[in-house]
Amino acid sequence: MNFSNYEQSILIVDDEKSNRNILTELLSPVARIILAKNGEQALKKALQHKPDLILLDIIMPDIDGFEVMTSLQSHPETQHISVIFITGFHDEFAEEEGLSLGARDYVTKPFSNAIVMARVKTQLELKKKEHQLHLLANTDILTGINNRRQYETLFEKEWNRCWRSQKPLSYLLIDIDYFKKYNDSLGHSAGDETLTKVAECLESSLDRPADFVARYGGEEFVIILPESDLTAAEHVSKKLCDNIFNMKIEHPKSPHKFITISIGATSTIPSEEFNKNKLLNKADDLLYGAKDKGRNQYICG
Ligand SMILES: [Mg+2]
Repeated sequence: MNFSNYEQSILIVDDEKSNRNILTELLSPVARIILAKNGEQALKKALQHKPDLILLDIIMPDIDGFEVMTSLQSHPETQHISVIFITGFHDEFAEEEGLSLGARDYVTKPFSNAIVMARVKTQLELKKKEHQLHLLANTDILTGINNRRQYETLFEKEWNRCWRSQKPLSYLLIDIDYFKKYNDSLGHSAGDETLTKVAECLESSLDRPADFVARYGGEEFVIILPESDLTAAEHVSKKLCDNIFNMKIEHPKSPHKFITISIGATSTIPSEEFNKNKLLNKADDLLYGAKDKGRNQYICG
C-alpha cells in the first residue's frame, strides 16, 4: 500500500475574483486548486474532480452556497466531500445554517490567512486519515490489491451501472494451478511471495480504469470488466494466462513447470433473471472445466 502519492485537492467556490485569487495564492502550496465562480460550476466540478475539500461562498447569484451544499449532500458521489463555508463577517445565522447543513467548518470574510490555513489544514489532515482507513479496510493485506469486501462494493456498483445502461459485464474467476503443491514443496513464505506477484501481474494486465481485480480468497482472484462482452473477456483471459506464464516462476510440482492460472470467464447484461449469483456460479463451473481440461487455460462461456 502506498499512501505517499495521494495528492489532495481543494475546490474554491466564490463569485468574486479577488477572493478566488487570494485563496488560490494562500492554499496552492498545500493542495491542488480547482476554481468555480458560481454554484452551477461548483456542482459540476465537484462531481468531476471529487476534491477533498470545498471552500464554499454563501452569497452568490443564482444558486447560493446553501443550495450547493444541499445538492452535494444529496448526490452519493459528492456527499462525502468536506465543506468549509465562507460567510460574511459576523453573520451568525449563516454560520449556524451552514453547520446544520453538514459543513465541517466556516471562515469569515475578510479572511485572516492564518485562520483559513489552520482550518483548511485540519480538514485536509482528517481527509488524509479517512482515505488511509478506507484503503486499509478495502485492501488485501498480503497482496495489496482489493480485498473481498472491496470486491463486493465495486461489483455491486458496476453491476448496477451496467444494469442502467444495459451493457454487458464480464466476470472472470481465476485460480492459481497446483498452488497447494507449490506451498507444500517450497513453503508458505514462497507461496505468499508468489501470490503477491500473481496479484500484481493480474492488476497490471488490466488496461481500463473501471476494470478491477480482487483477491477472492486463498489463491482465487476475481476480475470484473464493466461494459465488456465475451469477446473482450476472452481477449483479457488469454493475456492474463500468457502474462502469468511468462513470469516464469518455477513450480517444481506442476506439469507446466511454471506457475500458471486457470480462468472461467463469462459475461451478461444484468437482469432480474440472470442475477449476480448466477454469474458467479457460471464462472465457477467454467473454471472447473478449465481445471479438468488440464489447467493453464481459460474457458469462456
Ligand atoms: Mg459572494
